[in-house]
Amino acid sequence: MHEFSTAQMIISTVIRVAKENNATRITEINLELGEFTLLNPDYLKFSLNVAAEGTMAEGAKVNITIRPGVIYCSECGYEGEAKKEDFEGAPHVPQLLSLSLKCPKCGSSATKIVGGRECTVKNIQIVTA
Ligand SMILES: [Zn+2]
Repeated sequence: MHEFSTAQMIISTVIRVAKENNATRITEINLELGEFTLLNPDYLKFSLNVAAEGTMAEGAKVNITIRPGVIYCSECGYEGEAKKEDFEGAPHVPQLLSLSLKCPKCGSSATKIVGGRECTVKNIQIVTA
């Protein structure tokens, strides 16, 4: 699953950062998740807990903030949130990302995704020795 490989990547990143800061334990991980990643936040949390097992991040509290998907319309210049129902139910992420989302302002399909595809670690809480 996509969530699990993402979780493993996040855990190895936060452990690296924590070690650079002389941490012995990670107690909290705060993430920002773009809507267009189509990752399920609950499943991602679960995957993070599994990926953290046996590491210094084991038992860390995970908080996920959802960032809305943003599109740009080359027809009318609209730049802003895309309506969630426009892309919900899309079967695969790669398909979705090549799909043109309708502009909520003028209805044109001449849009491109400019935000909401990222999954970033905002900050972490650590315990140092
Ligand atoms: Zn438009």
